[in-house]
Amino acid sequence: MSRADAPAPLDVVQDLVNTWFGRLSGGGDEGLQSPADLARWCRKHGVAVMDEAVTARELELALAVREGLRAALARHNDAAQPVDEAALGKLEEAAPELGLRVSLIDDEPALHPQDGSPVLRMMAALLGAAVPAARDRTWHRLKVCREPRCRAAFYDGSRNASGVWCSMSACGTAAKQRAFVERRRVRNAARRAAGREDHA
Ligand SMILES: [Zn+2]
Repeated sequence: MSRADAPAPLDVVQDLVNTWFGRLSGGGDEGLQSPADLARWCRKHGVAVMDEAVTARELELALAVREGLRAALARHNDAAQPVDEAALGKLEEAAPELGLRVSLIDDEPALHPQDGSPVLRMMAALLGAAVPAARDRTWHRLKVCREPRCRAAFYDGSRNASGVWCSMSACGTAAKQRAFVERRRVRNAARRAAGREDHA
């Protein structure tokens, strides 16, 4: 089974987080290396922006948003995982540049991006989407893979929302194999220790 996609609008949050993850062509490729990469990513999600319109600062902000989101989503699947405080702190610092305002035009109060460049509005909209998603609990199902070499975002559609790996066949199996090898190592070491005592 491959990674499950989150429902809109969290699918865009997931797609941003997954512009980098450890398994991309086997070696941690960065999908947002340049402002033009970011422009392309925005266009893919329906935001019209020219390559040369995106600034280096906007790329920096987008990466802060991405890694802050990854840190926040990692908390959804594993309390034992260390929290990436540095990434969360960077996002907090970037947040004032990503303005949101409350709108009551629709039935439900909503957060809308304030005026700004297309990229800033898009990043603000992504953060704003977390608030209603947290209310309807879809936010808590958007998680980051527990496998340290992966860290991809996946949507946990399981009945009890207990998934921890992006894919059982890839990361889940690898983790189980490592655990098996580790248990065997501990068992063999204990046996060897017991054998030495027998011969003492
Ligand atoms: Zn994974």
